[in-house]
Amino acid sequence: MNAIALDADPAQQVLHEVFGYTAFRGAQREIVDHVAAGGDALVLMPTGGGKSLCYQVPAIQRHRAGRGVTVVVSPLIALMHDQVGALDELGVPAAFLNSSLDGDEARRVERELMSGQLVLLYAAPERILTPRFLAMLESLNERGLLSLFAIDEAHCVSQWGHDFREEYLGLSALHERFPAVPRMALTATADDHTRADIVERLQLADARLFVASFDRPNIRYTIVEKDEPRRQLLRFLRDEHDGDAGIVYCQSRKKVDETAAWLSDEGLTALPYHAGLDAGVRRKHQDRFLREDGIVMVATIAFGMGIDKPDVRFVAHLDLPKNIEAYYQETGRAGRDGLPADAWMAYGLADVVNQRRMIDEGEAGEDFKRLQRTKLDALLALAEAHDCRRVRLLAYFGEDSTPCGNCDNCLNAPATWDATEAARKALSCIYRFHQHGGQRFGAGHLIDVLRGKATDKVAQYGHAGLSTFGIGADVAEAQWRSVLRQLIALGHLRADGEYGTLALTASAREVLRGDVQLLLRVPAEAPRRTKTGRTTRPARDKPPPLPLDDAATARFGALKAWRAEVAREHNLPAYVVFHDASLAEMAREQPDSLDALAGISGVGAKKLEAYGAEILRVLAGASSTDQD
Ligand code: ADP
Ligand code: ZN
Repeated sequence: MNAIALDADPAQQVLHEVFGYTAFRGAQREIVDHVAAGGDALVLMPTGGGKSLCYQVPAIQRHRAGRGVTVVVSPLIALMHDQVGALDELGVPAAFLNSSLDGDEARRVERELMSGQLVLLYAAPERILTPRFLAMLESLNERGLLSLFAIDEAHCVSQWGHDFREEYLGLSALHERFPAVPRMALTATADDHTRADIVERLQLADARLFVASFDRPNIRYTIVEKDEPRRQLLRFLRDEHDGDAGIVYCQSRKKVDETAAWLSDEGLTALPYHAGLDAGVRRKHQDRFLREDGIVMVATIAFGMGIDKPDVRFVAHLDLPKNIEAYYQETGRAGRDGLPADAWMAYGLADVVNQRRMIDEGEAGEDFKRLQRTKLDALLALAEAHDCRRVRLLAYFGEDSTPCGNCDNCLNAPATWDATEAARKALSCIYRFHQHGGQRFGAGHLIDVLRGKATDKVAQYGHAGLSTFGIGADVAEAQWRSVLRQLIALGHLRADGEYGTLALTASAREVLRGDVQLLLRVPAEAPRRTKTGRTTRPARDKPPPLPLDDAATARFGALKAWRAEVAREHNLPAYVVFHDASLAEMAREQPDSLDALAGISGVGAKKLEAYGAEILRVLAGASSTDQD
């Protein structure tokens, strides 16, 4: 009975038997069925949404049906090793071809490929497009053993995207040479422009488009205004992520180095990562991040693409990313395992000025700059929002939703104030500067004048005599900064040059006329220190940890120690052996037979056979010491 039911659903059978999972997530099922049946597909799914399964399950199904190998195009050599290692652990014949292999190893893989025994072959695009490799594919194809092309990180084909790779342009050759072989392209970057580029350049006009929901419900979004950002970061790390693995993004290499050194001084295990470091150091730091527990990686955006560590518990931004796509992709690296995770960002007026300047001074053409500015504005609007962050994020990707209950604004609705009048005052003060001496000034001086401060600069320029001197004394400095950020974000004000000097734009007139109403969030008050030295702001709730009692926690610890040993022996990251979530479930459920163990999520047939007996022994051992 059972066997017949399973046979009737080969996709479900592969999911359960090979991966040990009980159910497909969201759109996975539909995608798998479409591709297994030979359809072309373009898959847009957020980071951590489960893209790999979308090509791995059909690859296994089609190989079982005698159709041969699935070729996976992947831009990242570093990642292939771990991905193939993970498939190996699952008992799926897979290999990679890239420049890290020596001649003998490469020939061995080629032999495996030509014999038809491989289910999946990972290769970089430049390798795939060599005459030698294309000839091998021809030969496989003639024998009906070329099953599917899966093009991962497909946005690399687009110049509009942020990871353009020249080699990806050549991939249209695959369709031209092997028109009958189905293809799927996968990416997490989804704006319309990039999407259209992928379709055109990979010739996927007839492919079915699958757009999964971009929601990542387990990620909690928090955006704070900078106010001693280091202290804010440290408090976030200590209060909410003690001992957790996570990523801290900074914009410059210098800031990465400084921040990592400072966090280390504070007693955290923090490592720097940026393109200026020696390749060997980078590899070592990445390896430690993947293989050890609780490492904080401080990095530029050079780090992250293709990092599929599932238990990254937080992603923190100390500087503003370029746009919402980048923010979403970077924060999406948190919580792939579905357990609670945090996306935390601190930003300030200087960030806005910096990003603007980088765009203005960039080499790009005017069209591209305009697009970049629009995208930056959307990100600023998100940062300044006083309503649900997730609703705004999803709306940006074209999805409607309702307030999420799991972002800072939902959890703690910020107060708002009507800044319409303040905005008019700020703009007219800038106008007065202009009339007075044609000089331009930055935000600091402007705020001093508005608040009526008698500084040296005020004296030097005679600004105490302006009609706008002191007209904004009732508005706090932090509030003024938020007004200026907002005016820049809305395009009524421009910040130029190294000092971010402010100038009115054509649309400033609308604000001066009172046509633009501004409702702003009240900047969160800096927490005050009490006599005991503790801050008065209560630590925000830590996301619920895996609910384990003391005995189960001991078993979980024993299982982790066992896993670490296996991972070391196999030269793989621990999560490739088992996810934390699987070990926690074992610790909680205490399966006492192989049958019971097979019911744990993440335990497929191969892992049950390879590790089942040992796991039962570890569990029994941990329970018995427990009772002593
Ligand atoms: P993406 O490539 O889209 O960023 P991955 O393919 O790495 O995401 O998947 C994210 C995590 O979710 C992986 O650890 C994967 O094992 C897990 N996962 C994917 N699909 C399922 C599923 N149907 N059930 C349980 N876990 C899943
Ligand atoms: Zn929300």
